[in-house]
Amino acid sequence: MITARQKPFQEIRGMIAPYKKILVLGCGSCVAECAAGGEKETAMLTSALRMAAKKNSEKVLVQEKTLDRQCVKDFVIELDGIIDQYDAILSLGCGAGVQAVADMYQELPVIPALNTEFLGETKDQGYWVENCLGCGDCMLYYFGGICPLARCSKQILNGPCGGSKDGRCEINPELDCAWQLIIDRLSRFQALNRLEEIYPPKDWSRKQGGGPRRIVREDQQK
Ligand code: SF4
Ligand code: SF4
Repeated sequence: MITARQKPFQEIRGMIAPYKKILVLGCGSCVAECAAGGEKETAMLTSALRMAAKKNSEKVLVQEKTLDRQCVKDFVIELDGIIDQYDAILSLGCGAGVQAVADMYQELPVIPALNTEFLGETKDQGYWVENCLGCGDCMLYYFGGICPLARCSKQILNGPCGGSKDGRCEINPELDCAWQLIIDRLSRFQALNRLEEIYPPKDWSRKQGGGPRRIVREDQQK
């Protein structure tokens, strides 16, 4: 999923300052899972903005709504009937959601309330970790299901670097050494021979360099 964190409150206040009728728009998908932009966080931010406005004697209408997904047009379209009431949207979607909503309502400013962070996994309650960089050519098979691009601090493909101690990364001892994990897992599957190959430097052209990536599936189109 995509993870995100809420921007500092004063930064949000500064960005919405020119507007008088604001829709605070949550998203019920990834950013709800990482407790940044779901229904609950949207309600809390709305109420904090109302209180701050009241305290400063500002006449502002702040209302809230949460869509199932901000990055899918079929859900964003739900705003059609209410959007005329507002002069700005404060989005608690990820960067993709903010842009999808802005694309649908071109005349309206859509302001990001979150900082989008990374593609990751919920490890525990209140604990998310990055584990994929979306490189466009997944190599997890070769590395026993542990991604050295996302999880090794030096992103080495032919590791380990030699600095790991007690299974911990030399760059940050709070982290497991990804290469230790790779070796442990491949050993478990009797697949260490996958590391006999020399992997060339990652070809990042499948991730970036050619403009925004697209997936077109004609079999999924109407
Ligand atoms: S190799 Fe790593 S960065 Fe690339 S798709 Fe697989 S998990 Fe993601
Ligand atoms: S200690 Fe392990 S995770 Fe850290 S940089 Fe070296 S190989 Fe990568």
